[in-house]
Amino acid sequence: MVHQFDVVIVGAGGAGLRAALEASKTANVAVLSKLYPVRSHTGAAQGGMSAALGNHEEDHWKWHMYDTVKGSDYLGDQDAIEILCRDAVDAVIEMEHFGLPFSRTEDGKIAQRPFGGHTRNYGEKAVRRACYAADRTGHMILHTLFEQCMKQHVRFFNEFHVADVIIEDNVCKGVVAIEIKTGEIHVFHAKAVLFATGGYGRAFKITSNAHAYTGDGMAIVFRRGVPLEDMEFVQFHPTGLRKLGVLITEGARGEGGILRNNEGERFMEKYAPSIKDLAPRDMVSRAIYQEVQEGRGINGEDYVLLDLTHLGSEVLEEKLPDISFFTRTYLGIEPADEPIPVQPTCHYAMGGIPTNVDGQVVYDSDNTPVTGLYAAGESACVSVHGANRLGTNSLLDLVVYGRRSGRHIAKFVQNAEFSAMPEAPATDLEERIRWIKESDGDESPEEIRTELQREMMDNVSVFRSKETLTKMQSILADLKERFQNISIMDKGSFFNTDLLDAIELGYLLDFSSAIVESALARQESRGAHYREDFQDRDDENWLKHSLAYLDDEGNISMDYKPVVITEFQPKERKY
Ligand SMILES: Cc1cc2nc3c(=O)[nH]c(=O)nc-3n(C[C@H](O)[C@H](O)[C@H](O)COP(=O)(O)OP(=O)(O)OC[C@H]3O[C@@H](n4cnc5c(N)ncnc54)[C@H](O)[C@@H]3O)c2cc1C
Repeated sequence: MVHQFDVVIVGAGGAGLRAALEASKTANVAVLSKLYPVRSHTGAAQGGMSAALGNHEEDHWKWHMYDTVKGSDYLGDQDAIEILCRDAVDAVIEMEHFGLPFSRTEDGKIAQRPFGGHTRNYGEKAVRRACYAADRTGHMILHTLFEQCMKQHVRFFNEFHVADVIIEDNVCKGVVAIEIKTGEIHVFHAKAVLFATGGYGRAFKITSNAHAYTGDGMAIVFRRGVPLEDMEFVQFHPTGLRKLGVLITEGARGEGGILRNNEGERFMEKYAPSIKDLAPRDMVSRAIYQEVQEGRGINGEDYVLLDLTHLGSEVLEEKLPDISFFTRTYLGIEPADEPIPVQPTCHYAMGGIPTNVDGQVVYDSDNTPVTGLYAAGESACVSVHGANRLGTNSLLDLVVYGRRSGRHIAKFVQNAEFSAMPEAPATDLEERIRWIKESDGDESPEEIRTELQREMMDNVSVFRSKETLTKMQSILADLKERFQNISIMDKGSFFNTDLLDAIELGYLLDFSSAIVESALARQESRGAHYREDFQDRDDENWLKHSLAYLDDEGNISMDYKPVVITEFQPKERKY
């Protein structure tokens, strides 16, 4: 079946919905989502969305910009960061006017709390900048935006799994999707396509990310010649529930929570004397590993404790109800009485599909756009987060850059024509599906995936070296070979999740290679990318963005492009 819309948005999380809402003011818009929209991972975001509203104390967007640049370890593009922090104030208030039920101050303003790396006056001390709705901020954003889109009659194709994009002569013409319920293939012909498909945490064993976080959008465009930017920067959040990876928001430390080692010591005092437990995530995750390596993990094991007991049950119930529920449910621990066992968990993709500040996908080191192709949210790399994202800046990225992309798309489609589609746009996907169903080898996709996740965790997580990365290169080569020899049980059409899992495994393998090659090439340590064999940041050689390209033979080559620096020159990053 063939559909035609001015605009097709792939993904119904915060970024996709915010863009859809904006574009649909003048254009006809379809949103395709493999999940029912309000099940998107944005709904799991807990802690907050930053904006220098100054509702409790003095704050400025410039301070926010400085913190974001410094947090990014100077790899973020400062023109994009300026827009993020400047537009934050208005974008958050707009969300309030859409009906987002924020927590409130006593005089009725949006309440704000401290978060990692957010400071007043260029690093003086922590500032209250994160706007929140208890610890359900993302849930509220998602529902608010979904309502607004319904009001505006955006057309939703729910449980449609997009598996290919049509790009010819550098013009994007549409996408090809599988209707999950029936297995039917649908072609969507569009003037503009926006990918807002979220991150890829499911490439790692311990992750805070939802099962659907398999980097689909990134892998789909990667296979069609678009590079992936800064893929070596994978954020590990310091406080995942031990062994499970389920997130305990940084808001818990924002409210006063403290990390302790086996001696009961508040160890972050050593690593970040001024903001302690509220240091950026890359630093706290490394500190936890170091404590563990030096024998100060709890019971000699690989975790530490997050102590919230001094906050009292009233504060926990009012400000952190969901995470209290998680610790009770998953670990049988009452956070008001006992500290919570935590360890770093794979959380966020700083890298992704390269875009300019209007959301247009750019494919080379001169930032040349692909006509009609856009990306926003976690699947995109603008780059506002550089080598390390500050907490609460992602939800902000969704609303600021979702809106900007939506605006640019609306303008673009007004003057654009539909370009002619290739004769049989679905052939490649049909062929891929036929191959997966007919393949009768003896490899199980599930086993390949589990092995990938375990090995990525061991070799490509918080610490990396030439040794671990080259080991992972050959493991990936082996896993890809085994992938050619899979078989799936379900050969049918209806709700064939076996088939979709196999398709997603293909994505996991492809973008994991981009992570490994980018990480191996970057011979320095910066933000979330820490090389044991190159422990220092090296601005002379590596103050640049990585671009990984995939060729038809499956080989990856690297290119680089400069970082945009407008205001803040790189300095040593101390907290
Ligand atoms: C547990 C957790 C807590 C977090 N807390 C915070 C926080 O407090 N503050 C903050 O700033 N950030 C937080 N983050 C990060 C932030 O929530 C995410 O980066 C952000 O929500 C991503 O939004 P998105 O719109 O890019 O993608 P998502 O919300 O993940 O949406 C992706 C969409 O793409 C669709 N999709 C994917 N693949 C396909 C496909 N092949 N075909 C069709 N559709 C597809 C999915 O159905 C979904 O609708 C948190 C993240 C997690 C995991």
